[in-house]
Amino acid sequence: MNKCPCNSTMGNMVPSATLAITSKAKALKAAGEDVCAMSAGEPDFNTFEVINQAAIKALNEGKTKYTPASGIPELKKACAEKLIKDNGIACAPEQVVIAPGAKFSCFTAIAALCGPGDEVIIPAPYWLSYPEMVRGVGATPVFVNTKAENNYELTAAELDAAITDRTKLLILNTPSNPTGAVYCRKTLEELAEVIIRRDIMVMSDEIYEKLVYDEKLPHISIGSLSPEINEHTITVNGFSKAYSMTGWRLGYLAAPLWLAKRIIALQSHTSSNATTFAQYGALAALAKCDDQVEEMRKLFAKRRDLIVELMSGIPEISVIYPTGAFYLFCNISAFGLSADEFCNRLLEEGKVAAIPGEPFGAPNSIRLSYACSEDNIRTAISRLAEFCKKLK
Ligand code: PMP
Ligand code: GLU
Repeated sequence: MNKCPCNSTMGNMVPSATLAITSKAKALKAAGEDVCAMSAGEPDFNTFEVINQAAIKALNEGKTKYTPASGIPELKKACAEKLIKDNGIACAPEQVVIAPGAKFSCFTAIAALCGPGDEVIIPAPYWLSYPEMVRGVGATPVFVNTKAENNYELTAAELDAAITDRTKLLILNTPSNPTGAVYCRKTLEELAEVIIRRDIMVMSDEIYEKLVYDEKLPHISIGSLSPEINEHTITVNGFSKAYSMTGWRLGYLAAPLWLAKRIIALQSHTSSNATTFAQYGALAALAKCDDQVEEMRKLFAKRRDLIVELMSGIPEISVIYPTGAFYLFCNISAFGLSADEFCNRLLEEGKVAAIPGEPFGAPNSIRLSYACSEDNIRTAISRLAEFCKKLK
């Protein structure tokens, strides 16, 4: 059968470049190649032991059967309590949907809300999966370029101008992958006013919330700003980044009840529940790991300082000072190469793996992840500096 071209919107997605390059870097290293990986979108720590033990206990107790599609009641309750306590978001357990990864939560939120004819506003640079998900459900992504000098924040005026009568959803991501920017309260308040007035929904992806480094820029959840905006908000979060649980595939969202019900129906026909014993590990993560998360955050803060300082030795590359997540977004336009070319040559000639900006909607930039040891950061940036010298 001739499979191409076909009418499947889902079947026309392009593979995730972050996952592909991260796997390639891991494979090169495993094959003994001297590659410095700055590509990983995952913490380099082991999952905290208390989480592992809770999942092992659950396995040994036979917690290996189906759970409700939206998760075990204890975990939904714990997530709702966490959203109230940590984020100030009013939330009942019935509004929480536990999913196999925050990525799937993003997808079910988009799919339950949007379809052909709908527009979804995505501030650029963006996490590369959002546009693919939007196109996947047949809706249209509408990109709004944000500026480095505005800390890569979408402004209320830019949002207002981008909304049409087809707009269903705005996607926000703070702290941001790939820029490391954190939205400030004032901008979020102004955006909330527009979202309510123009009556659209917002999906706020807060998966990096625990990794913020500037006391003046704490993580703020847009859903916490007023009961009205909460009615328009889907908050997405997960366990991958805060607890180093990327392989566990565990995320969640909280949405207004009418939408949570739709999302649960969708999940009940697609993934069913997130892995049962993993959900018990997540209970321990929420209950017992605050201190370890804080230690990890401090280590990331040190690495952030180190990489920013080392990059100041490469004046051709400009960066914005990241205040969250574990990425440094670097403008490489001074070299006259596309980001793809730059990253391919950097890997071949400089033995450093980085992610090109094209799939993030930023063709002049590359993303370096500092979720790696200080030694790795030092070696990578000195190799990058050498490579840039050769390019000049
Ligand atoms: N959102 C953002 C911005 C991310 O970087 C990631 C990283 N994978 C996710 C969502 C999804 O995380 P996961 O599916 O591992 O929970
Ligand atoms: N989100 C991470 C990244 O951007 C992991 C890879 C992925 O899920 O796409 O690198």
